[in-house]
Amino acid sequence: MLITQKWDVIVIGGGPAGLAAAISAHDQGAKTCIIEREERLGGILKQCIHDGFGLVTFKEKLTGPEYAWRYIEQANERNVPVFLNSFVMDLKKEGNIFKLSLINSKEGAFYLSAPAIVLAMGCRERTAKQVFIHGTRPAGVFTAGLAQYFINIQGHMPTKKCVILGSGDIGLIMARRLTLEGATVHGVYEILPEPSGLTRNVVQCLQDYCIPLHLNTTVAKVHGKNRVEGVTINSVKNFKPIPGTEKYIDCDALIVSVGLIPENEIIEPLNVPIDPKTRGPFVDQNLMTMFDGIFSCGNALHVNDLVDYVSESGNIAGSNAANFAKENLQKRNLIPVTPKDNILYVVPQYVDLNQKSEVVIFFRSSRTLRDVKLKVYSDGNNYISKKYKVVRPPEMERIILNLSKVPSNISEINIELKGE
Ligand SMILES: Cc1cc2nc3c(=O)[nH]c(=O)nc-3n(C[C@H](O)[C@H](O)[C@H](O)COP(=O)(O)OP(=O)(O)OC[C@H]3O[C@@H](n4cnc5c(N)ncnc54)[C@H](O)[C@@H]3O)c2cc1C
Repeated sequence: MLITQKWDVIVIGGGPAGLAAAISAHDQGAKTCIIEREERLGGILKQCIHDGFGLVTFKEKLTGPEYAWRYIEQANERNVPVFLNSFVMDLKKEGNIFKLSLINSKEGAFYLSAPAIVLAMGCRERTAKQVFIHGTRPAGVFTAGLAQYFINIQGHMPTKKCVILGSGDIGLIMARRLTLEGATVHGVYEILPEPSGLTRNVVQCLQDYCIPLHLNTTVAKVHGKNRVEGVTINSVKNFKPIPGTEKYIDCDALIVSVGLIPENEIIEPLNVPIDPKTRGPFVDQNLMTMFDGIFSCGNALHVNDLVDYVSESGNIAGSNAANFAKENLQKRNLIPVTPKDNILYVVPQYVDLNQKSEVVIFFRSSRTLRDVKLKVYSDGNNYISKKYKVVRPPEMERIILNLSKVPSNISEINIELKGE
């Protein structure tokens, strides 16, 4: 059967961001559906069986599947239609309407259209190929998320003794998970002088299990023909291996946890402007991109460390997409929110001064700083001053800017962190 359906809002991605977006768009009265390429809703949370999700939203320590289930239930109660196992082949705009060509094994090729689209495709892991490691490419080099999928979803142990490269959150969580399942984790090796995951994960996943964290080190070479037999570790200076510091470690796997990249290839044909710092689209406070009618949320927008804020962004994107579908666009008066001293990035990157609402702003510092003051200001006006005992790049910070305090004639809002 050839389906051609008209919707108000189409949400691409059925993880926590997409679920929250679909629920809030539906609650605003929009005819909404979700497209998901996998066979079940829940996104990455399906394989995150550790607890620690939902502390902000539910004040409870939930596992990933439990957290996802709370939103799946809400979507089910509202009968939000879901297209599972469905791939978007093409996305284009004709007049004011987006047209999506899709394919799945049940319907074959089918087409959906809507005036508003919410992007909630999450992110993918950087692989070993994206970091510079000498040696062969035997079996046994996995990303941390793949190792997690093997253990938690498929019930296979991918290693008996391994080395973890990179101290991002997934690597830290997998160090603990593999140890609990009986593997020997020789250590986590991080090229930077400090861990790139959350402090709580360093404590709960490494220190509590006596797993060593080696800073300023990297895996320089992988050994083995058919299967990993060992790796060479090097201390580094200025990101370069220091000669003479080589150490061979006998192991059967290298688990790589070297960062996440928002998945946004789907919008490439539309040339939606992408922020090179976040790898997600530039957005305003409604999470609408610079392309009218396309909204972005969750990890597709920028890599989040807490799922609660992913759901919050889904909520914002979904309800604004519903409003957009109903009323279309009021002309925007966009000005940039510019990251200045010690700010790595800021989201949203623009605010629409025609709206005098409260704006949720996320930022990360570019380095670890102690006793600093955050300042949000423009042309002599100071909107927010806040002191921080410590800020670290892995910990995303959240502030609220009240636009009713911001004059309509300014050209830029600046955000900076400076020592006191
Ligand atoms: C290992 C790990 C541990 C974590 N631990 C914690 C924790 O303890 N506490 C916490 O709060 N947060 C944690 N997080 C973070 C949190 O889980 C993520 O931030 C959150 O799941 C991101 O949600 P999302 O909906 O943006 O993306 P995802 O969960 O990745 O969902 C995206 C969905 O979109 C689908 N999709 C992608 N492209 C397409 C397409 N073209 N067409 C159709 N569908 C598509 C994908 O299949 C997927 O289902 C963890 C994350 C990971 C990876």
